[in-house]
Amino acid sequence: LGSLDLSRSSLPVPRCSHSGGEVHLETASAKKLTDIGIRRIFSSEHDISQESVKKFSQEVVPYHAEWEKAGEESRELWEKAGKQGLLGDLFSTAITWEEQACTNCTDPGFSLHSDIVMLHIVNSGTKEQINYFIPQMTAGKWIGAIAMTEPGAGSDLQGVRTNAKKSRSDWILSGSKVFITNGWVSDIVIVVAITNHEARSPAHGISLFLVENGMKGFIKGWKLHKMGSKAQDTAELFLEDVRLPANALLRLENKGFYYLILLIADLAIPACDKEKLLGKTVAHIQMVQHKLAELKTHICVIRAFMDSCLQLHEAKHLDSVSTSMAKYWASELQNSVAYECVQLHGGWGYMWEYLIAKAYVDAQVQPIYGGTNEIMRDLIARQIINDK
Ligand SMILES: Cc1cc2nc3c(=O)[nH]c(=O)nc-3n(C[C@H](O)[C@H](O)[C@H](O)COP(=O)(O)OP(=O)(O)OC[C@H]3O[C@@H](n4cnc5c(N)ncnc54)[C@H](O)[C@@H]3O)c2cc1C
Repeated sequence: LGSLDLSRSSLPVPRCSHSGGEVHLETASAKKLTDIGIRRIFSSEHDISQESVKKFSQEVVPYHAEWEKAGEESRELWEKAGKQGLLGDLFSTAITWEEQACTNCTDPGFSLHSDIVMLHIVNSGTKEQINYFIPQMTAGKWIGAIAMTEPGAGSDLQGVRTNAKKSRSDWILSGSKVFITNGWVSDIVIVVAITNHEARSPAHGISLFLVENGMKGFIKGWKLHKMGSKAQDTAELFLEDVRLPANALLRLENKGFYYLILLIADLAIPACDKEKLLGKTVAHIQMVQHKLAELKTHICVIRAFMDSCLQLHEAKHLDSVSTSMAKYWASELQNSVAYECVQLHGGWGYMWEYLIAKAYVDAQVQPIYGGTNEIMRDLIARQIINDK
């Protein structure tokens, strides 16, 4: 090996169609995983946009503690994000999510708004719904939420009790929802409800409705007190005979479960960039160095898989099994990296003033929401068994 020049410049760097044939550094060869220009899936335009998102995310930092106390972010932040074009576009939201992680301010619920709520409306909405909601949501003027979970229906959506019954051409919606991200600040909520109690299974009788803030009978309950992600609100919502016009139904009646499953293939690209600085005092210890080598390797490996999922997603080829694998693996890795980094910080890692403590706590929710990781394993296993 001694005679071979293995420096990066001498190696052929694979090109990616998405980056327009530009040569990008590899993540693994970069000094810092947070460096810009180390991703083959990003073009130089993405790099420029990442630079400005980085600035935007850093501007958020001084206000974050204030929002944590308030239990919600300011609306100005949303509008500013809208003006910067951070809402709605796949690669912009991926970049934003990562930069939020880099500044340890992951709370603004942009990802749910863009990657789930807007995507749902774009994928399943009528032209009229898309034209009405999407421009306001892209501008950050209307904030989106999705209300599936109920006190008796979390992993198993077939336990949903929220009911929608027809009244001439209108719908009357009643029930309650819990754990709804952006619920308190929401302007538009996609609500999962039963529309056919006689269906051969509950999944065949579920529909999705677009409920707007201010509608009579739509009541926002408590902002729940959480272990982490405190600047992002998670609320209870109550629907007391909310009268909805026919065009509040998201596309077809009784197809809600199908739309939700379709979306599973479109979600869950959480960033996993929690590499943290380590004090000089222990960095010379070989065991610590090996631990850092391990963590960096794990992060680079998952980044390669996540990047591939992002590309597939953009090409509309991402399947639900890969999505489940990405969500399960990245969120567990995020937790194990955060855990190891707390350990490496010793007692200081347990102190709130240290960023790693917050990163560790905030990571806890990732394997729970968006479908628990047990359910992700179930989806992956189902395909293995069914393929036999
Ligand atoms: C901060 C936060 C934000 C959230 N945001 C939203 C939101 O915006 N919208 C929304 O609708 N919901 C939201 N949720 C709810 C979240 O999606 C649910 O908490 C999650 O789906 C789990 O449901 P559950 O809490 O009812 O737990 P359960 O479904 O009761 O699960 C309890 C445990 O049993 C396991 N389990 C359950 N069923 C199975 C099974 N078949 N096989 C193996 N294990 C199983 C689970 O994996 C879990 O470990 C949020 C939750 C949190 C904490």
